[in-house]
Amino acid sequence: MIEGRCICGGVTVELPRAPEYLNACNCRLCQRSGGIWGYFPRDEVTIRGETRRFVRSDLDEAYLANLFCPTCGNAAAWIALDSEYPRMGVNMRLFEPDALRGIETRFPDGLGWAKEAEGPAFVHEPAPYGGGRIL
Ligand SMILES: [Zn+2]
Ligand SMILES: [Zn+2]
Repeated sequence: MIEGRCICGGVTVELPRAPEYLNACNCRLCQRSGGIWGYFPRDEVTIRGETRRFVRSDLDEAYLANLFCPTCGNAAAWIALDSEYPRMGVNMRLFEPDALRGIETRFPDGLGWAKEAEGPAFVHEPAPYGGGRIL
């Protein structure tokens, strides 16, 4: 079991294990949330404390909600608005680096997938967690 927490400690996230990989997505939402995501089945994630939700209103069809701490603003997780969707994303930046050492960080082109390519593009360079840089 590993546990992460936001900077104020108001929200904690408990996971049964570290994720297989970390996703540093370049879409507008992920880039701005500051989250680097690990994916887990919903029923394996325990979030304690008050969270607030943000759902994008600038999309024709928003499909997820971001959960964040109302006190410090740290991103905690995202969940699909479709409750049948089996997995969710947890912001692995809430966890101590030692819990994540050696886990591969992936840099998917979420911006391209979302067809949001107009506007500033973010260039990513794959690197392992802890030793990486985002240009
Ligand atoms: Zn907080
Ligand atoms: Zn994204």
